[in-house]
Amino acid sequence: MADWDTLFIDCHLATMRAGALPYGAVEDGAVALKDGEIAWCGPRADLPSENAAEVHALDGAWVTPGLIDCHTHIVYGGDRAGEFELRLTGATYEEIARAGGGIRSTVEHTRAATEDELVASALRRIADLTAEGVTVIEIKSGYGLNRDDEMKQLRAARAIGAQAPVDVATTFLGAHAVPPEFDGEPDRYIDLVCNEVIPAVAGEKLADAVDVFCEGIGFTADQSERVFAAAQKQGLPVKGHVGQLSDLGGAELAARYGALSCDHLEFVSETGVKAMAAAGTVAVLLPGAYYFLRETHLPPIELFRTHNVSLAIATDCNPGSSPATSLLLMLNMACTLFRLTPEEALAGVTREAACALGMSATHGTLEPGKAADLAVWRIGRPAELSYKIGANPCAIVVKSGKIVRDLRQRA
Ligand SMILES: [Zn+2]
Repeated sequence: MADWDTLFIDCHLATMRAGALPYGAVEDGAVALKDGEIAWCGPRADLPSENAAEVHALDGAWVTPGLIDCHTHIVYGGDRAGEFELRLTGATYEEIARAGGGIRSTVEHTRAATEDELVASALRRIADLTAEGVTVIEIKSGYGLNRDDEMKQLRAARAIGAQAPVDVATTFLGAHAVPPEFDGEPDRYIDLVCNEVIPAVAGEKLADAVDVFCEGIGFTADQSERVFAAAQKQGLPVKGHVGQLSDLGGAELAARYGALSCDHLEFVSETGVKAMAAAGTVAVLLPGAYYFLRETHLPPIELFRTHNVSLAIATDCNPGSSPATSLLLMLNMACTLFRLTPEEALAGVTREAACALGMSATHGTLEPGKAADLAVWRIGRPAELSYKIGANPCAIVVKSGKIVRDLRQRA
């Protein structure tokens, strides 16, 4: 009888455990898996047994936890490439809106799509992420903007968790934009979200968290607070899109509700940062949207560091402001645009991203007892994951103890 189901040797580990060692690194390490969990990991010299059903010698590759994309809008109908082209050939926002562009076009296409169509189009994008070692994805609703279509989006997100080698955390983002039927009446729409949609979503257990777009072009702090209160009433944790374009005090508000994360955060005051620190709220940075919208106002990275606010990084994959399906590219952008260190960047898509989803007990580091989600990289040192642009050195992906990608034979 083997002691382990699977054993990886001849490898280095970036365990990403917090502590004295950069990357929680273990040179010449070993990882043993059993029953879908990490059973043992550490220096190979200390490995208690090499008796495994399967042994993989990795030829000096690096092993990290499976990557976690903790902020996406990856389930949607239609696409906005035509609009992108129109804008770059000189069309104004008004002309694009008249031609049916903008978020309303995504809402229209998402409403028109069936649940199966939404799953199929999202799975193609998710394949890009899983090829880069992503094993956990957060998916938000927010393009249905009525009860049935929001629930359809969340059901599609749940279905993806059963069809792709990823765990899916779902987030209800009904308060993403005011739908056309409620033009000029955002408070009436928030009534619907709070009184009807959140209870329905909670009743079917379709969402793991509730999010809101607190912004001049989204919802006010008062409207956002109503959504948070309605979520709290259902026992659902909250998170917020705050400070993307202006500071409405969203970080302070979200922290008061014990938010898992505040996301974007280009505009946040030191009071907001301190409130997040006190509440243990993670700052999720979205360099793809910053880049795509050609923003220039940087998030206050040094303030987050001073107050020990955890930093996570995500793709924000969405058709309007971040059509990104590469989390590795986000690592490079976080370092290049936001001046994160490569170690902070990698922690931002592993340990801290797990924290932003309330999953740190089971995911985000290589530690015994955590899910056997791993990525194996053909790299000489972990910094290469942030340094390279457009390369994908991911050789093997393990999800819940099973090898779901293996490029070794193509070497
Ligand atoms: Zn977003």
